[in-house]
Amino acid sequence: MTMTLLPINQYGDKILRKKAQPVKKGDPELVAFVKNMFETMHNAMGVGLAANQVGSNKAVFIVDISVMKEYPNEKPRVFVNPKIIERSEEKISYEEGCLSIPDVRADVVRPKKIKIAFQDLEQNEMVLEFDDFLARVIQHEYDHLQGVFFTDRISEWEQKKIKKDLIKIKNRKIEVDYPVTEREKD
Ligand code: ZN
Repeated sequence: MTMTLLPINQYGDKILRKKAQPVKKGDPELVAFVKNMFETMHNAMGVGLAANQVGSNKAVFIVDISVMKEYPNEKPRVFVNPKIIERSEEKISYEEGCLSIPDVRADVVRPKKIKIAFQDLEQNEMVLEFDDFLARVIQHEYDHLQGVFFTDRISEWEQKKIKKDLIKIKNRKIEVDYPVTEREKD
């Protein structure tokens, strides 16, 4: 079996600021692309990955938190053309990181529960509710499809603290143990 690892776009790459485009019914590339996304994410030890992180404008993200010891029974999930349709009033804060922003971590406040409409990999229409950690990962990936980073959701003071790190990432002055894209020309 061959494995395809896609290079992961890093902070500063323009595609990460672009809004995703809807996936068409019967998109012939979808299944193979999602398989490559899973291989890329698992190789990088990530729990979520959005299509624009691997250079595609498709409105797709994947989540698999079963690599964490607290959630061994959670199955991998694919979200095609997702839309969050409800968010709980109750919010919680938790530390996040991102494969496109290596070695940067910060607490992010997000709704505790969400309801999301989406299509599965076979493009069946689904509506499901999620809470706690899974809801957090889903919201983080959903943000990517809108061109938003978790670092956009932290205080100005915290943004100041990580500014140098973001510049280092943009300039690829980083050490990561998974393939990343080359720095884009300005
Ligand atoms: Zn991310």
